[in-house]
Amino acid sequence: MEPVDRPGNEPAGAPRNDGAAAEGVDDRSAAEVARYSDRLLNEGHERWEGDRCPICFLFVGLPIQKHAKMNVCCMKMVCKGCSLEARQRGLRGCPFCRTPRPSDDASQLAMVQKRVRKGDAEAMKHLGDKYFYGRLGLPKDVPRAIELWTEAAELGSVDAHYNLGFMYYRGEGVEEDKPRGICYWQQAAIKGHVFSRQSLGIAEFKRGNYELAMQHWMISAKMGYEDSLNAIKGMFMRDEATKAHYAEALRGYGDAVEEMKSHQREEATRLGGSFINTCF
Ligand SMILES: [Zn+2]
Ligand SMILES: [Zn+2]
Repeated sequence: MEPVDRPGNEPAGAPRNDGAAAEGVDDRSAAEVARYSDRLLNEGHERWEGDRCPICFLFVGLPIQKHAKMNVCCMKMVCKGCSLEARQRGLRGCPFCRTPRPSDDASQLAMVQKRVRKGDAEAMKHLGDKYFYGRLGLPKDVPRAIELWTEAAELGSVDAHYNLGFMYYRGEGVEEDKPRGICYWQQAAIKGHVFSRQSLGIAEFKRGNYELAMQHWMISAKMGYEDSLNAIKGMFMRDEATKAHYAEALRGYGDAVEEMKSHQREEATRLGGSFINTCF
């Protein structure tokens, strides 16, 4: 999922007008822009289905990397509760497809590449991540990462949209193009991508559009994202949002977190690091 978390971790900070938002759609007519803005706030309130664990069907907690593990054999993100349960039943391979776990970086890379060759969007996104950070024995190659994410995004990966949004918005590895970056985030947010929604909130906040920023963050807070809840809390403390807004965010966040709980997940949390070391 890397570098998924990075904009979400960026402190909201002082507002800064960097011309970030509506220009993302500046090639459309004003009416189209208005319609799209409405859609953007009215759609994507439910998390993307790909964020569900394929075994228990519950949405994975946030941040995803902390609560689930990607299995490169099938590119399925299995929650730590289901991974623990599989292990307790004596299963040592992938909890979803039962393929034996790759023994080293080279075999892990071979599994990913095999799926990339078959046109798997999530595998392309995953391989892009590995090039971005230079992992699994690969050289760090940002242009190759962007190439893979672009292909993955065209095939429908919302995480790849998010990553590209980050690169263009920040001008990392590509020439900075904030409108293009925002466009990528918008396309992912409308499909329920939490981190893209959070990033749109940050972009609007930096432009001084506090009301719009809060509307984005309200959506992602209600999906169970604590950073969004904290952003609204910060606005409330600075009198930029009302107590009612903060209360609504707190309630929605709490409900989402409650829905993501299961006995197995709590057990996995209780076992903490020792379980993660042996199972992941
Ligand atoms: Zn699960
Ligand atoms: Zn598998």
